[in-house]
Amino acid sequence: MIEVDQGYLDSDWVELVKTASQAKNNAYCPYSQYQVGAALLCVNGEIVAGANVENAAYGSTICAERSALVAANSRGLRDFKRLVVSVVGEIAAPCGACRQVLHEFSSVSGLELEILLHGEAKDTYQLTTISELLPHGFDFR
Ligand SMILES: [Zn+2]
Repeated sequence: MIEVDQGYLDSDWVELVKTASQAKNNAYCPYSQYQVGAALLCVNGEIVAGANVENAAYGSTICAERSALVAANSRGLRDFKRLVVSVVGEIAAPCGACRQVLHEFSSVSGLELEILLHGEAKDTYQLTTISELLPHGFDFR
């Protein structure tokens, strides 16, 4: 994982950051008050956003990353190039469940998913990949 500054970001990254940041405002998080937004760049160029959706039964909560991925899948989109995760505070990396789910689609498509983490508190960025976050993800093939 490397820190990058805003000047490093190409136009696709900038658009993804903007989309993830806006999606964060749609988070349903009455329990944690922790808003997270995500934006996936699909191979066909489409961008699909997601936000965290909490539930009184905490285990039913879905993170922003999986929310975006489910939304994309619902539209038949399964090949992803990039993901941005934007949070209000300091940078936060995807949880273990999200890493595994993201790994699934990276593994199926054969595409390495680049992941940019964005912390709005200090407008900081870290760049990583799904392979770096989950080097030995579970595969059933
Ligand atoms: Zn997660």
